[in-house]
Formats: sequence, C-alpha cells, structure tokens
Amino acid sequence: MIVRVTLDLAVRKEFDYLVPIELEHRIEAGCRVKVPFGNRQLLGSVTAILDKSPHAALKPITKVLRSQAPITPQILELARWIADYYCASLDATLKTVLPEAVRKEEEGWKQQLHARLVPGAANANLTKRQAEVLAFLTAAGELPVQRLLEQANATMGILRRLEEKNLLTIAPQISERDPYANEVILPTAQLGLNAEQTSVLAKITEALTDTSDRNRTFLLHGVTGSGKTEVYLQALDFTLSQGKGGIVLVPEIALTPQTVERFKARFSGGKHQTLVAVLHSHLSAGERHDEWQKIRQGRARIVIGARSAVFAPVHPLGLIVVDEEHEHSYKQEETPRYNARDVAVKRAQLEGATVVLGSATPSLESYFNARNGKYFLLEMPTRADDKKMPLIRVVDMRQEARKDKQGTPVFSRFLIDGINRRMDRSEQVILFLNRRGYASSLQCPKCGYVAGCPNCSISLTYHRRIQKLCCHICGHNANAPSECPECKNPAIRFSGLGTEKVEELLAKLFPKARIARMDSDTLKRKEDYRRVLGDFKTGKIDIIIGTQMIAKGLHFPNVTLVGIIHADLSLHIPDFRAGERTFQLLTQVAGRAGRGDVEGEVIVQAFTPFHPAIQYARRHDFEGFYEQEIGFRKELKYPPISRAAMLTLRGRNEDKVTLSADYLRKELDKKISEIGDIIIAGPAPAPLLKAESFYRYQIMLRGANMSRLSRWLAKIVADFIPAEDVRVTVDIDPMNLV
Ligand code: ADP
Ligand code: ZN
Repeated sequence: MIVRVTLDLAVRKEFDYLVPIELEHRIEAGCRVKVPFGNRQLLGSVTAILDKSPHAALKPITKVLRSQAPITPQILELARWIADYYCASLDATLKTVLPEAVRKEEEGWKQQLHARLVPGAANANLTKRQAEVLAFLTAAGELPVQRLLEQANATMGILRRLEEKNLLTIAPQISERDPYANEVILPTAQLGLNAEQTSVLAKITEALTDTSDRNRTFLLHGVTGSGKTEVYLQALDFTLSQGKGGIVLVPEIALTPQTVERFKARFSGGKHQTLVAVLHSHLSAGERHDEWQKIRQGRARIVIGARSAVFAPVHPLGLIVVDEEHEHSYKQEETPRYNARDVAVKRAQLEGATVVLGSATPSLESYFNARNGKYFLLEMPTRADDKKMPLIRVVDMRQEARKDKQGTPVFSRFLIDGINRRMDRSEQVILFLNRRGYASSLQCPKCGYVAGCPNCSISLTYHRRIQKLCCHICGHNANAPSECPECKNPAIRFSGLGTEKVEELLAKLFPKARIARMDSDTLKRKEDYRRVLGDFKTGKIDIIIGTQMIAKGLHFPNVTLVGIIHADLSLHIPDFRAGERTFQLLTQVAGRAGRGDVEGEVIVQAFTPFHPAIQYARRHDFEGFYEQEIGFRKELKYPPISRAAMLTLRGRNEDKVTLSADYLRKELDKKISEIGDIIIAGPAPAPLLKAESFYRYQIMLRGANMSRLSRWLAKIVADFIPAEDVRVTVDIDPMNLV
C-alpha cells in the first residue's frame, strides 16, 4: 500500500510513502501520520491511497495517529476545491480546515483522576475523616479526585487508604472541557410560527426532504426581528428528525452568549438529546479539541460557530445556516483566503445539503444570485412580534455646525434631547461610533504636521487614558509630543473623534447617567464583554457607547434610542463597497432599537445626509438601495456584475515592489489570450500604501468566470519570480481592498 501525504509544511508539494503491512488496516484517506522527511520526523495528512507511485525508493511511514481519521472524505474533497479555487496550497488549506489541537501528535483529551465508589463494598473500620469522605463520594457516586479533595476536604492519603480497603477506585479518565459547563440554560419550546415564517420553513423542509440534485441554496431576506432565528431553529429541528446534523455560522462578534444560549436552550436535552457544540476563537485549545471531537464522534449534531465552523466534521450533513451572510468577517484575510459563506454553498452542494443564507441586508452578490435564479429567494418583510420598524431620523450635521458657534458639535440638539427623554423615563440608549480612541489625529495648525505611523501610511490615533498615540494597523505607539516636532509650535491640536472622547463628553453632558464604553480597548477579555452586557441587561448601565462590536446580535427590550454619531465615517473608505457597507451598518445598528414594547427611535448624524446609502437605510428600503447600487456596479463593471481577483505585491522596498508589479502585469498581458475577456487594472498603489512597514501595490482583474480565471492566475503566479523580498498574494473574490 502506498499513500500520498500532505505534510504540515508549506512546501506546496505532496509526497508518497509506503505503508508497512502492520499499519495497513489503520490507514484511510484523511488520517494523520508521522513520516520520515530528510533526517526529521514530520506530521502530515493522508490525502490519497495509491496502488503505485511515480517515485522510486519510497520510505515507510512511521506511525498512524489516532484511531479515527480527523478529515472526512467530504472535507478532503472540499479542501481540494478550496485550494484550487482560492489559489492556495493544499497544505495551507488542510491546516485551516483542521484545528491545531486535533492535528497534534499527542491525543488532545484531558485525563483526570476520577474516584469511583466500589458498589456493594462494606465499610469496615473507618476513621471519622475516612467515613466523611466516603459519605461524600457515596452521594455523588463518582467525582474527579481534584473536586473530591477540595469539596470533601480530603487528602490524597485518605483516598489511598480507602482505595486499599477496596472501597473506591482511582483511575484516570477523560474529562471533557465544556466552555458552557457553568451556565444554567433553561430549555425553550418552539414558537408558533406566523404566516411568513411558516411558508419560509415549508420551502426549506421541502428541500431537506427532496433527494433530487436540485439547487438547495436559499437566500432568506428578513428584516431585523422578522424571526429568522426561530426559522433556523425549527429547520435544524427538522434536520435532526431526518437523522442529519446542521451547522450554523454566525459572525464572530455576533457569537455572543445570548446567541449561543438560544441554540443550546432549544437542543440540549429534551426530545433529541442533542448536544450543541460551539466553535469560536475564544475557546482554549483544549476546549476546541473536545468540542471538535464531540462533533467528529457524532455526539454533537448541531454546531454553532464562526467562520471556520464551516469545516466542522458533521456527518451526515443536512443543513448549513449562514446568518448575516453579508458580513465581511466570513472572509479569511490570510491564505487560504476563503469566504465561509461561499464555501458553505460549495460544501452543501458536495454533500447534498441545504443552505440558508440569512440577512436583513443581503450582500449585493447574494441578492444578485437570487435575482438570477442561482439562489432561491425567501422573504420575511415584517417583524415577527408585530413591532413597528424604528423611526429613523437623519440629522444634517453641517446645519448643526452652522448653528453652533464653537464649531461642529459631537451631539446634535436632537440627540441630546432624545437621550434626556430616555433618562427621564429610565429607558436605555445605545450610541454607535465606528472608531475607537480619543482623537483620530494630532495636527499642527501652523505647519500642517500630522503625527503619522512610521510603519503605515495612516495617522496615529490618540488614546487619552494611556496618553499614547497608537496605530490601529500595526499597533505602534508613542508618547504624544507637547509641541510640534517640526516647527516647535506648542499649540498642536487633536482632531477627529473616537469612542473614548464621546464617553468623556457624555459624562459631562449627563452627569447622572451610568455610561459604559464597549470597544476593543475596554473589552480585552471575554468576561468583560459578558459583564458589561449583563449590567446593561439588569439596568445597571443607562448608556452604552461602542464600536461595531455592538452592532449585532444584541437584544435589549429597554433600548428605545439608538444614536449613530458619525454615519458617513464608513462612506469615505476607498472601496467600491463603501456604500453597501454603510447601508448595512446603519440598518444593523438601527435594528437594536425598539425591541421591546416601546417604539424605537434612531438618530443618525451625518455630514452627507442625502447619500443614497443613508437615505435608503432611513426608509428601510433594501430593494431601493439594491437597484441604485447595482446600477453603479454595472456602470463600472464591479462585482457582482463581474467577478474580481486581486493580486497584491508587497515588500519593504517600494522600487522593488513597483518593478515586480509592472513585470507581473506584462506577464498577464502576454498570456491574456489564453483566457479571453477580462479587465486588468493596475498596478496601482493600495489605498493604504504602506502597512506594517510593507509597501503594497495592487493589480485587479475582473472577468465573468472565476474558476477559469483563478486557475489561469494560479499558474502565472506560481511561475512568476518577483524581485527579492517581494511577495505576491492572490485574493479571489476580495472583500478588503484597502
Ligand atoms: P431575527 O433573527 O430575524 O432578527 P428573531 O428570531 O431574533 O429575529 O426574532 C425577533 C423576536 O421575535 C424574538 O424576540 C423572537 O422570540 C420573536 N419571535 C420570533 N418568531 C416569533 C413568533 N412566531 N411568534 C412570536 N414571537 C416570535
Ligand atoms: Zn502602523
């Protein structure tokens, strides 16, 4: 027997090995092996079993790890597709697909000593302490030794004595780490669905029962509060009743305890005895290992997680839900640069599963696909609870600036009045500003000097509490100078606004209000996040000011006002999706208001109040926005009208980067006849030319057929030799253009 192995080594190659006869019965595609490589021993994954190899003198594999292959045949096929489509190597792709904790040589289970009562044993001649400890164990039957020592106030000596008397046994046992072990979750029952939900669920269950190879990708466009989650829950329930499992993808920042609880509460215990596994980046390696194994062993049938949960080894797979499908965080910004939403669609296709992409603000790509019949469109235009959509008022900040003698105020009169009214009525307020820090730049009004990052082409943000200037790209920080470093002018000025400053101003304006700030500066640990939300829920906080961290997944009935401090901020990003992003962000944030009995109000402060992204969001008009935005994309032949690929060249020496970029462009032009109708733009400097000391130049390609384009590109890039220290990356269907 011969196996082909992808090593855990970025070499973009596979190697063949012999399998010694005594290991043959343990070999299957997807299993992990240890093999000799040069004078080292390396780990790798078996990607194929062969009869013969083109290579002579094969070495034998050393060892097969674990009893069960971690990579299922389905996932292996998916990994091959990803490597191919996203121009990545199979080794890098397998590394992404399989969590580190499962790839390791050692078993990842945590062994713990457990004490167990020997049934029917007579307790002869015990000391008082021994009897007490034994009584404690009798009540529990079995306990981890550690717990017994702590809770029964026992010593190891006492336990060993009891063991000698044959009253209990002490043995190592696997103990599973459950990140939610300390949570008390009350089970919930299914809600009776309204008419919209009923017809949507019927379409989904129909696809789940259908065995033909029809298209099973749904786009569920439902306004915030339309009850999408309840539909997901019942669709998953149906999937289970068919003996299959499901995966729910949620953006990392929406994977709040609240969200997880909703799924756990429905599926833990009860009818199916189904365990829900959770996969996200805050898990410890051990927790991740245990959650993953629970899925692989089929004990957990429902998985809820962020991007990489799309690779969860659920089998057989019935349903994948991608909630907030428009979210950019589904795209991985390192090799392989996959989009979990698109991988979900591919995976479902390979495994005959059904996909539901859900959003209140679908991406242009998905809505375009639904319009063209590639996806099946489902709509839920009204809120499930019959609550009205919140009233959105747009405030023109240019007029506010004219009224105010001291320049542009941070809070408009409307917003201040609005907050005051909420404070009088003991209601709560969420304020949103998508920029952390105190001031976005430090400037000298005399000579024009701006404190910039030495490694990146952006200005430094001032953080007042730590009194430092920080770079939000690379993390560089420096003390704020007391005078202009160029012209020695002592009157240097902070300008621009961040959440830290808003918090400070709020405290002055509303001295009685209890205010909390939620951004990545204040919430360094996951407990912080829970604590602040817990305090908000129980009414210990009146106003939350936060970045996009608070834009989703939060459901607080007492929030009746949402204020958006600077709505145009995301419009000025040099990206063709800036308008789309802004529309989505405004709609999402607005959706936090009016989730209870009192009607919600949203105040949007903007300097360009008539921008279509703001106006369509104000009217809750997704379709209107889509029509106008797709017109713009058509004119410029941007996605989703075309498909895009981005080549980025980066290096520390700008000349070498531009030289390589020009040369690569020539190579592309030379071979363009092989592929036909594509548009090549660039090389051009990236909008953020320099990041983390690297200069970046981009070449953008657009065409109609991405599979062909990416195969063609992969070949050219593989053969291309850039200048020394210059690296080329290929990004298929890029999301981040900056
Ligand atoms: P979405 O996910 O679309 O934002 P949710 O599923 O969170 O919406 O539903 C919004 C609110 O409506 C929740 O409080 C939910 O419990 C409630 N809800 C959903 N479906 C129903 C229903 N059929 N009957 C009553 N309340 C419902
Ligand atoms: Zn920097």
